[in-house]
Amino acid sequence: MSFLLGIDIGTSGTKTCLFREDGTVISSALAEYPMYQPKPGWAEQHPEDWWQAVRDSVGRILAETGISGKEIRGIGLTGQMHGLVLLDREGKVLRPAIIWCDQRTEAQAKGMEERIGRERIIEYTANPPLPNFTAVKLMWVKEREPEVFERIHRVLLPKDYIRYKLTGEFATEVSDASGTLLLDVANRSWSGEMIRHLGIQRDWLPRLHESHEVTGTVHAQGSKETGLAAGTPVVGGGGDQAAGAVGNGIVRPGVVSAVIGTSGVVFAFSEQVKVDAGGRLHTFCHAVPGKWHVMGVTQAAGGSLQWFRNQFGDAERNVADLLNKDPYELFSEQAALVEPGSEGLIFLPYLMGERTPHLDPAAKGVFFGITSRHRKNHFVRAVMEGVAYSLADSLSILREMELKVSEVRVSGGGARSPLWRQIIADVFGHDVYSVRANEGPAFGAALLAGVGTGLFASVEEACEQTIRVAEKCRPLGENRAVYDRYYRLYRKLYQDLKEDFRLVHRLVADHHGAE
Ligand code: ADP
Repeated sequence: MSFLLGIDIGTSGTKTCLFREDGTVISSALAEYPMYQPKPGWAEQHPEDWWQAVRDSVGRILAETGISGKEIRGIGLTGQMHGLVLLDREGKVLRPAIIWCDQRTEAQAKGMEERIGRERIIEYTANPPLPNFTAVKLMWVKEREPEVFERIHRVLLPKDYIRYKLTGEFATEVSDASGTLLLDVANRSWSGEMIRHLGIQRDWLPRLHESHEVTGTVHAQGSKETGLAAGTPVVGGGGDQAAGAVGNGIVRPGVVSAVIGTSGVVFAFSEQVKVDAGGRLHTFCHAVPGKWHVMGVTQAAGGSLQWFRNQFGDAERNVADLLNKDPYELFSEQAALVEPGSEGLIFLPYLMGERTPHLDPAAKGVFFGITSRHRKNHFVRAVMEGVAYSLADSLSILREMELKVSEVRVSGGGARSPLWRQIIADVFGHDVYSVRANEGPAFGAALLAGVGTGLFASVEEACEQTIRVAEKCRPLGENRAVYDRYYRLYRKLYQDLKEDFRLVHRLVADHHGAE
């Protein structure tokens, strides 16, 4: 028996998981690190911290299981997308990495749109220039830190910096590269046009692979620092969403996933490159060779409930402590006592602005329709319903784009709640399946390592052999009818309030100097 290793360079920490060939988890370890916010809206991390976390977590797994590095057949890397890692000629990190949630680059995104043109950028890369994409961050460095820009020798994504430390190779793969705005997503190659327009050098960019391909092997130094065996193959892996989708089996037409993590994602497999003209969904290469995916993002999904718990959930937290339960479980049980529609209480989950479908950083959260009848459990249910409506917005754009939706798989922390799963089924009007795969992206990355090292013939086969659907939740007819009506009102509320969001956004900026 040999083993597969998945390493996920997340935002709060690195999660390393060891799997048996049949996909069973043997052991997992998390090593955390900080995110630095030196100015409002900035978000940075030190690549050395990621590497230290990889060394820690791999070391712990090897020590705990007693498995030797030699027994590991292959390694898959995954992690946060869009981050900017800059190296000089000696391979040294030039400045802290600017990570995905950094918000300093709105001006550069606008500047690119003005100089190159939004339609042209979509034509070159399949996506509009959103501030969080890597190339936009690179333009910020060009404008604001020219002395750093001058010394750039390599531009890497977070997980690819770990690849460099493990193998000495400068390489990436198409799914993560899709979030740079430097990839010609349709042709799965770097975009010569974008490179030219932005005044950067092609040889700064790493070699491109399909996600399952072996990109190199652990070298002597990598082995010395981690305990992994020299010569172990490291495959491309994937951006966290694409690798997570592989881990959930989203590798066939019609299978769509709804993820309720801190943010929410609706992710659909696609045989062709399909682009939403409004740029409301991202179109990226999938970690399946020659395939793509389309995805929509709800900024504050589980994050909305987390915010509510932190602000108003002290009582539940105390009771949960006594019962040795998770406060979210208590919330979920209480909200299940409320009728669908929360007796007219509607929540707009725009606590952090919104990406899909509004692309509106000024959008704000709203509780609408409060009466004296409403109790705390109505608010909890309204939060869950509002998040489901927002995910349904992404689903309806997929349908507009004529992408088939035949099966919905739900995952992420929120999917632990039976009530939230039922609400998703009722609002979507679809059977919703949950999958037994808690390791998310790390599992998908390990499966890709299994494909690259010949254990499985294809990504599809890897998923078929290892992924089991745990539970099915059917939509209830009477709830559907209620939700159809509330969902229409939910959509109207954003349109009615759009201008007012802008007004309050400006007021806050004037009074508090933010944004
Ligand atoms: P991340 O995206 O940060 O990895 P997770 O996938 O772990 O996050 O999801 C975290 C979110 O899941 C929490 O913010 C919370 O809203 C939700 N959550 C976690 N457990 C439960 C539960 N038992 N019931 C309902 N929601 C839950």
